[in-house]
Amino acid sequence: MGKQSLTIATLGSHSALQILKGAKDEGFKTLLIATSDRLSFYKRFPFIDKFVAVKSFSDFPAVEEKLRNKNIILIPHGSFVSYLGVEGNKKIKLPYFGNKKVLDWEGNRKMQLQWLKKAGLNVPRKFGRGDTIDRPVIVKSYGAEGGKGYFTAHDQKDFEEKLKFFLKKDFIVQEYVIGVPIYLHFFYSTLTKSIELLSIDKRYETNVDSLGRMPLTQQENIDITPSFVVVGNSPLSLRESLMPEVYQMAENLVIASKKLLGKRGLFGPFCLETIVTPDQKFYVIEISCRIVAGTNLFIDGSPYSCLLYNEPMSTGRRIAREIKIAQKRNKLNLILD
Ligand code: AMP
Repeated sequence: MGKQSLTIATLGSHSALQILKGAKDEGFKTLLIATSDRLSFYKRFPFIDKFVAVKSFSDFPAVEEKLRNKNIILIPHGSFVSYLGVEGNKKIKLPYFGNKKVLDWEGNRKMQLQWLKKAGLNVPRKFGRGDTIDRPVIVKSYGAEGGKGYFTAHDQKDFEEKLKFFLKKDFIVQEYVIGVPIYLHFFYSTLTKSIELLSIDKRYETNVDSLGRMPLTQQENIDITPSFVVVGNSPLSLRESLMPEVYQMAENLVIASKKLLGKRGLFGPFCLETIVTPDQKFYVIEISCRIVAGTNLFIDGSPYSCLLYNEPMSTGRRIAREIKIAQKRNKLNLILD
């Protein structure tokens, strides 16, 4: 793709607006692949140059064929795996920003745990078959989206009773960590070999975030089951004294990824989902190896990106900046798969 002018493309969903706005700000042409019902919505935004309509995202492979050899780079986001599946993502032939090897490590809870442990990060205790549940736990099905389909239990008996009504085959039982959920958005640049903390958010989950609004005496009279369905995100700033540790965690994760996934490891945007306890310990509950929806709060930059850049720098724009620098240095092969 050398020195030709490049087009940045993505699927019309999740953080497409942020990605394409960032690409336009960095001087790229932009293209959106969207389902017909969303075209008129996306056409409201002047920074999208071209549109490709599809009936459904399952038509992506056929559409992709027509877009090949046109200097198009595809930026994956949170909806890619939900629409195309892990295997569908691996089969993408257009130049793809990121390392596809992370898909397996991220998508399999056991492998993800191995990665987090290799990085020396704190993780909630995991309960295996035969372990006695001696503390509050959260039971998560595999591939759950946005916190749907989880349940909590406070001891072995409670767990066994609730399990009878749980229809999922594959799940993990994890210690329920009592603390505040904090989502850290990073970018790791293969070109500069540095970690950047670009923004932080907190999710708003229903109904768990509203339970505290009712006194316990009221709660006792109604049958409430906590649920963790995400309905929104709000920005968050962190105690500055916690920031060195936050950077260290991300660095350790990248180092571990190079050992587990091969030389290139994890690069580009990723998010550490953590719970912070009163003794200020970070427990990592999950890692997302791509741009996460919480970054949409910061299309105009965040307090943290402002410390690193003298211009508004969203995660979407940071991706485009990386592509721009790589192209200039003739190093696109380092960041595309
Ligand atoms: P996840 O699908 O892992 O992102 O979890 C969805 C939500 O469930 C999180 O945002 C948390 O509010 C909650 N959650 C998940 N795991 C834990 C845990 N181990 N301890 C406490 N809360 C959790």
